[in-house]
Parts: sequence; C-alpha cells; structure tokens
Amino acid sequence: MTAAQSTATVDDYIDRYGDFIAASPTAFHAAANAAEQLKAAGFSEYGLTEDWEEIAQQNSSGIADSAGFVLRDGAIIAWRVGADPLPHTPFNIWGAHSDSPGFVLKPNPNRKTESWAQANVEVYGGVLLNSWLDRDLEFAGRVFDSAGNCRLIRTGPVARIAQLAVHLDREVNNGLKLDRQLHTQPIIGVGEVDVAELLADAAGIPVTELAAWDVSLADTQLPARIGAHRELFAAGRQDNLSSTYAGLAALIAQTPAPQSIAVLAVFDHEEVGSGSTTGAGGPLLQGVIKRLQRLIGADTEAAQRSLAASWVISADASHAVHPNYAGHHDPETRPQPGKGPVLKHNANQRYATTGLGAAKWRALCEAAGVESQDYVANNTIPCGSTIGPITAERTGINTVDVGAPLLSMHSCRELSHVDDLYGLAEVAREFFRGQ
Ligand code: ZN
Repeated sequence: MTAAQSTATVDDYIDRYGDFIAASPTAFHAAANAAEQLKAAGFSEYGLTEDWEEIAQQNSSGIADSAGFVLRDGAIIAWRVGADPLPHTPFNIWGAHSDSPGFVLKPNPNRKTESWAQANVEVYGGVLLNSWLDRDLEFAGRVFDSAGNCRLIRTGPVARIAQLAVHLDREVNNGLKLDRQLHTQPIIGVGEVDVAELLADAAGIPVTELAAWDVSLADTQLPARIGAHRELFAAGRQDNLSSTYAGLAALIAQTPAPQSIAVLAVFDHEEVGSGSTTGAGGPLLQGVIKRLQRLIGADTEAAQRSLAASWVISADASHAVHPNYAGHHDPETRPQPGKGPVLKHNANQRYATTGLGAAKWRALCEAAGVESQDYVANNTIPCGSTIGPITAERTGINTVDVGAPLLSMHSCRELSHVDDLYGLAEVAREFFRGQ
C-alpha cells in the first residue's frame, strides 16, 4: 500500500522497529500503534459488534482486494485479501504476541514505608527479576474514566525498584535472591504520593473520574543500536515485538497474490498461558476466519478445504547461543547472531514444527533470500512454548514455530542482531505474497 512502509533496507527497517518499541510500552499500546499504521496504509477497521458485510461493501470490489483489521484490547488481527479469492482459498497467518513479562499495578496501588512512597505491583509472567533493578521506570497502560471511556497513558519516568547496596549484603555476588513480593516494589517518591493521581494526570482527567486501570511498569530507556558495527539492537519487549513488527511491516508492504489471504494475528497474554478473550487460546482468530470465509462465500465444505490448506507461522523470539553459558545449549544446534531467523523444534510439541512445516519454512527463506538456522533445546533444560501449539490445537491449521534469536530473553532489555530482525520481516513478506 504505502511505499514508505516497505521493508526496503535493514537500517530503515530497524529505525522503524525501534520507533515502534519506543511507542509501545504495553500490549495495549502495541496493538493501538499497529492499528494506526494499518489505518494510515488504507486498512479498514472492522468492529467486533458491527456488521462486517456492510463494512466490506464500502470497498468497490467487496471483500476481494480489501484490507482490514479488528482491534480488541491488547490484541489485533489484520488481513489482506487477494484480488480474486475463491471460497476455498487458504489463509497465510503470521502469529505473534504483544505482551511481555513485567509488573502490573495492583488494585490498592499505594504503599508507604519509612518516608518512602511506593507502588504495589504484581509479577506478570516469567520476569527476569534482577534485570528490572535500578532502572528509570514509568507507569503505562490504559485507564477508564467513570463514563467508561478508555485512554492509553504513560507517565514518563517516576519509579525505581532499588537494589540493596553491596555494603548491606556482602554475599550478594555469590547469588542474588529476590523475594517476588518484598523486593520488587518500586519507589515512586518521598512523602505522600497517590498513584491514582499520577495515572489521572497522565490521562488528563480529574482523579475523581478515574474508574479503573490496566497499568504496568515499563522501562523508559530508549532502544539503541550497539556493537562495534552497530549490528546489535538493545531494547525491552523484543519478545515479542520483534515478530509483531515483522508481521506488521510485511502485511503493509506486500500485496497478496489474487488467490491468497494474508493474516497478521497478534495475541495478548502469551506470557501467562494464552487463556483469555484476547489470547491465542481464545476464539478471536477463529471468529475472524469464519467471518471472512462467510464474506468470501465459503460453505462448510469450502471452509474446511481452506483450513486444511492454510498455514500458521507462529513467530516468537528465540535464543541465540550465549557466549558465557555455551553449555546451556544443544551441543550440535547453536543459533548464531546474524545468521538469520531460527526454526524451532521440540519433539514434545512445545513448538508445533514438523518436517512438513520445516520444509515449508525453508522454501520461504530460500525464496526470500534469507539465511535460516535451527533451534532445539538441550535435553536437561526444557524450552519455553509459544502460541504455535495452541493455535494448532484450536484451529487444526498446519503450524511452524520460528523467531529471531535473542540474548537475555525476558530481561527488561533484550539483545538481538539487526540482520535477524530484518530477515524475519523479509520471510514474513514472502509468506504473505502467497501464490
Ligand atoms: Zn514470546
């Protein structure tokens, strides 16, 4: 659609990826920012409560050759339909997630200890706790006013989870132990501070009108290219904005073939098991597929044929081999930085990749001119999981698990290689091209 959004060069792509991360401290921001970019590129918004036939009819060719998206909380599903879809035309679905491990504000958010004002937070997902210490943090998320209106907010740097001085814990370098309740509560000032007032100020409403919130802590340090050749990229939330942004940029840049349908599915709550209305375990994706199939004129038979020929590429951050902990990886499969996105394997179906999916992925990489490498865990260190096995189970669609290799996954600030990020977006684009 807009040429400005093409995945044209690595530097250009990485600049835009960094801007997207900087503007997306929470899943709500990421989904809203994706929606803004899609709207700017000509995608129509389809409301969940609206009549989709009416919206599709606003396009001169109906659902054919159209582009749309549905935004729900921290999740977004977007699509582009080729110029001549048949009732059994399959879907090429790029799946990702918008959430990251961190800390969520509890309902009674104020604490006072000695003269310090503190906030009261809850751990979300598998946080690498120590990585959040001694950083300039903000509150970010969404708030609701008493009329039910929702606003995205961010306060700017106000908070810090302060580490104990080495003088007061001489054993700390023999193993840092953090209590998830006692040691994770951020300082937000001295004296009387009301967190609700900070949130209301950020929303531009009086605190008396603040009805509710979904607010997290977020690091305020901007993303940066580092490394001797600026080949590395340091930022929080690369798990999994690396895959979200790759899919977004690719969907905007790539017109699908006449009988192809490209879908970007970005879910929330992956880090806590995907079981929610906006998680991959919920019905959001299937609802969109069914409604699109109806608009394309698919009956039950055509819909089943379509699903049987469809693909999900479940893209989620993966692990590069760590130079200081080389023994923690499989001895033969060692993903290197800059050698391309990885294809994830797990015999126990923590990843959904099979030989069929591996062949599909390798063909896409070759067509895109992108190097790819494999990931499999050391047998003594079980790997994580992704939305891949969940969407495979729910939809029955062939699924393959892939992602950009990182160091420090689930840290407040993760590290990737710019070529792997760009390579992932290029393969996404090839996938969306379809045939
Ligand atoms: Zn992830």
